[in-house]
Amino acid sequence: MRKPIIAGNWKMYNTVSQARDLVMALISSLHGVMDVDIVVAPPFTDLAEAGRLTAETNIGLAGQNMHWEEKGAFTGEVSPVMLREIGCRYVIIGHSERRQYFCETNETVNKKLKSALNHKITPIMCVGETLEQREAGQTEQVVGAQIKEGLAGLTPEQMGWVVIAYEPIWAIGTGRTATPEQAQDVHAFIRQQLASQFGQQIADGTRIQYGGSVKPDNVDGLMAKPDIDGALVGGASLKAEDFTRIVKFLPAKH
Ligand code: PEP
Repeated sequence: MRKPIIAGNWKMYNTVSQARDLVMALISSLHGVMDVDIVVAPPFTDLAEAGRLTAETNIGLAGQNMHWEEKGAFTGEVSPVMLREIGCRYVIIGHSERRQYFCETNETVNKKLKSALNHKITPIMCVGETLEQREAGQTEQVVGAQIKEGLAGLTPEQMGWVVIAYEPIWAIGTGRTATPEQAQDVHAFIRQQLASQFGQQIADGTRIQYGGSVKPDNVDGLMAKPDIDGALVGGASLKAEDFTRIVKFLPAKH
């Protein structure tokens, strides 16, 4: 049985004081929820405070990105060692905004993934197609390559840690969610791809989140699908009430 995982990607929103308010609200509204892994990914500047507040709670902390090196002359970057020490147990890798605006490729995603795993940080690897690619019938080709190349060289044991987030780019921040059926189709395809790359047991155990305009009013339909094991939530994760309702999706399949 795959434990659902719901993560909030705050992107470049919330100063430290705003982060404090949101985290305090979530600690209170999500208190006692143990059947879902709950994760928040604030900007780097908020991590120390968020880490201090969420320590000893049921809310896990994620970085939104990291470099693959432990240290060095990489101005503006943050390393896995730094994330670990500040309390991050998760890191988002290869978000489409990183791929689109910061030139991340399947190759750099693969390096970051391996580095995160070496530092015992659970990577949430994002994949997804553009609208043009979907309309050209290339969804499986694009997502298939992202999975194959992003996860290349991982051992089955390492795969046990990896979370995948399917995020169709046309659904991110647009209010246009994939229908539960559209999402399920791609999730099933990803699971097949994992089975051919790592075997059925790994495929069956890997959690695959859906991301793209997940809101309180569409989460239940998405989570009802057999291959959707959670959500990566952007905009709606900035409001405590909305994120709480998403974490408490119905009916609980856990
Ligand atoms: C995201 O940032 O990963 C995301 C899915 O954003 P939104 O929920 O706002 O579409």
